[in-house]
Order: sequence, then structure tokens, then C-alpha cells
Amino acid sequence: MKSSYEDLIVFNPNERDLRWRYAPVGQCIYCGARSYSQSQPDRRLGLEHIIPESLDGRYLLPEASCAKCEGITSSFEQKVAKRVFGPLRAHFNLPSKRPRERPSTFPVSAYFEGAEIPVSVEVPVAQHPLSIALVKMARPYFFRKKKWDEAWERRLIVIYPGGMAVANARMNEIAKRLGARRIEIRCGVAFQELVLLLAKIGHSMACAMLGLNAFYPFLPELIIRKDSDYLRMFVGGCSEIITHDRDSMHDIILYRVKRGKNIFLVADISLFSNLNAPYYSVVVGRMY
Ligand SMILES: [Zn+2]
Repeated sequence: MKSSYEDLIVFNPNERDLRWRYAPVGQCIYCGARSYSQSQPDRRLGLEHIIPESLDGRYLLPEASCAKCEGITSSFEQKVAKRVFGPLRAHFNLPSKRPRERPSTFPVSAYFEGAEIPVSVEVPVAQHPLSIALVKMARPYFFRKKKWDEAWERRLIVIYPGGMAVANARMNEIAKRLGARRIEIRCGVAFQELVLLLAKIGHSMACAMLGLNAFYPFLPELIIRKDSDYLRMFVGGCSEIITHDRDSMHDIILYRVKRGKNIFLVADISLFSNLNAPYYSVVVGRMY
């Protein structure tokens, strides 16, 4: 079935650097709860950062998450922030809840002459050959005619935020200083958590911009269950970037896609789009 873009709902680029606070929801956008928790029924629902605060996310959705769902979403957010984007966050000095615990060094693997097994060596952030490991994914199954039982098609890609030449120069420098044969960068990977995070960003952005009642949501139950495997139905790579803003740190584009009689809501998301990180597509739901 051929898809056509119904229309685009794009941010005003001039507003991108501001903190943007959307209207309070008054209901948990994941489980529908109207109170924060059983032990604190009078407390307001939690403030949702659409993109995690740890990645300098500035779009805020007030009164949007209960205590239980907050616990679930923050567990995978923290893993991605720490494991995948840790060195980058330190380099750009992005917000941290525990700045004192922020590591000042990150490991590289050093191969010494005559040794098969590398030695892990800690290198200060300023000298580290910055890199992040992300994944290129196939389009969400939702858009494809493939059989479900196939493995998730994905491959690892490494991005060098300062450019590959700089990373290579830094690796050579470290090798020289240590007297090592060669240096390899160790990147953290958190595939499942990244998929959950993309689903969370797409869903919360759609709730912020259109409201909970505008669409039938595909993602909240899968997010709560942390069902990253089934999420490949709705989360995957982005084949064609409709419009992009490589200047801002993160980029989200929300749009409607018409397929047959239905209109679906899709978010294209790139975390660190300014560093040429890949775009992902998230099918958020069906418009009522
Ligand atoms: Zn909830």
C-alpha cells in the first residue's frame, strides 16, 4: 500500500533553543493514572521531559507521568544516557543529576606488542577520541511487507562527533604516549533501551502537541512492558528525511501519513542530529 504524507507538523525552528512548556496533561500518558501514586494521591503527576534532561532535552510536558511509569521510563533513559552518550555528555557538559559523580575519564582499549588481549586504559575526556555507537535499523515493520519472524535488521554504526580525522589523531597520540601498537575505542551499546527511548520520545511528543484524545496510541503498553522486541513493529530506521534541522542538538518531526482510509501519526527523531546521528521513525498511533 502506498503511503502519502498528509501534512507536516513541524516546530518553529526559532523556538528550538528555548525551554518549551506544553499544557499540563493531568493524566499519566502511559497508563492513564490520574494520581501520582497510592501513597501520594494528592501529589501532582510528574513533569515529563520529552527528550531526557540528561541529553539537554528542553521540551517539558507537565503533569504527565505517574510514579510507577516515571520509574520505568527513567530506567531505560539513564542506561542510554550513560552507556551510549556518556562521553559526549561529559564533553559538552550536558546536565547531570549527580555532576560530582561524572567521570572525568573514559576507557580505550590498548593493544601492546606481543599481547593478544587489549588492556583497558582510562583517558581524560579532553583527550578522548570521542565516539558514540548507534544503530542503523530497517524501517518499522509497520511500513514493510516482511514476515514478522525475521530477526531485527540492524547494524552498529560509530559516529565521531569531532570528525574521524580528529579521532584518529587522538588515538595515535594515545598509542604513542602508552607505547601501544594500536588503540581501539570502546563504545557502549544499549539497543533495547534506545528503542524504548525512541518510542517514549515519539509518544510523549505526540501527546504534547496533539493531546491524548487526538489519536489511538500504539506505544504506551509496549513502553510500560519494556517490550522492545515487539516495538520493532513501530520503531525503526528512517528512509527519507522530510525536513531536518542539523543545527539543533536533537530533531523531532511529527507528521501524518495516509494509508488507505487511515491516517497514522509518525515521528522522525534524531538524537544529536547536529553530529550527523541517524534519524529513526516511530509510528505513534492512528488518528481518530
Ligand atoms: Zn503511569
